[in-house]
Amino acid sequence: MILDGKKIAKSNNDIIKNKIDNKILCNKSVPGLGVIIVGDREDSKLYVNMKKKTCKYVGIKTKTISLDENVTTENVIGAVNIFNSDKTIHGILIQLPLPKHINENQVLTSVDIDKDVDGFHATNMGNLALDSREPLFTPCTPLGCMRLIEHYQIELEGKNAVVIGKSNIVGLPISLMLMKKNATVTVCHIHTKNLKEICKSADILISACGQKEMIKKDWIKEGVVIIDIGINYKDDPENPEKRKIVGDVDFDDCKNISSFITPVPGGVGPMTVSMLMENTYKAYYRLTI
Ligand code: NAD
Repeated sequence: MILDGKKIAKSNNDIIKNKIDNKILCNKSVPGLGVIIVGDREDSKLYVNMKKKTCKYVGIKTKTISLDENVTTENVIGAVNIFNSDKTIHGILIQLPLPKHINENQVLTSVDIDKDVDGFHATNMGNLALDSREPLFTPCTPLGCMRLIEHYQIELEGKNAVVIGKSNIVGLPISLMLMKKNATVTVCHIHTKNLKEICKSADILISACGQKEMIKKDWIKEGVVIIDIGINYKDDPENPEKRKIVGDVDFDDCKNISSFITPVPGGVGPMTVSMLMENTYKAYYRLTI
């Protein structure tokens, strides 16, 4: 069965749009998202445009600061501080990755915690890790995955969950969230030995490693739930002008063996954007009531 992120994200966006419409009627203010983009990466520009388009749809106003590739960490923190003190901005999005010379941790921790709609501030991440604590905001991609799992009523307690990737923005937070739901979590990464065998033990396999169609049918067991976070590009022989987007999982190879599987595109991607809308609405609500 396909985990239809596109459909669930659309209905979630409609709920948020409704809430915003109603709230605007009551107090006339509008939620605002401040977007910071550094450099000229085509993929970053594409993701920012998709997010802005959805903001427009649900009724969130956006302001963008675009910075040159060669700016310093202090310049980026300066941009964050402009949004930190802007009362019309309730959430701040720093499009990642930042250029390598920028200190990403310093930048992310300079975001006002009340506006940390990406959930990457060290305090929010710390609260995500600690038992019986809740962060103010949870990172959007892992939150979107968990929402898909909840929507399709997939049981996590006592299940073997294998996560491929341990980045701060995806692999680590999703592992923490699965643990909080009492799954038995194995986190794999580039140095993991016997990755294929570990994947075969998974009841739930979540991949966020950015390796084009790496996971094949002989990597998984019958009935596994697959959440494919990877976004990779592949040449399309039918359309040489355009590259095709594929995940970390070979979808056609694995779809009939899995019980549930996310498509790429149309699975986790739209859920990520929708969770950003949800977090921004939450920030706006908290700051304006
Ligand atoms: P990253 O490069 O920061 O981290 C990749 C992780 O995968 C690392 O922990 C690395 O050790 C591991 N890894 C890499 N190659 C591996 C291999 N061959 N075997 C096992 N582990 C391996 O990347 P990220 O920012 O975490 O993103 C991961 C993927 O998820 C990318 O494809 C990215 O485009 C995608 N992504 C998608 C969304 C979405 O909304 N769908 C959001 C964020 C990231």
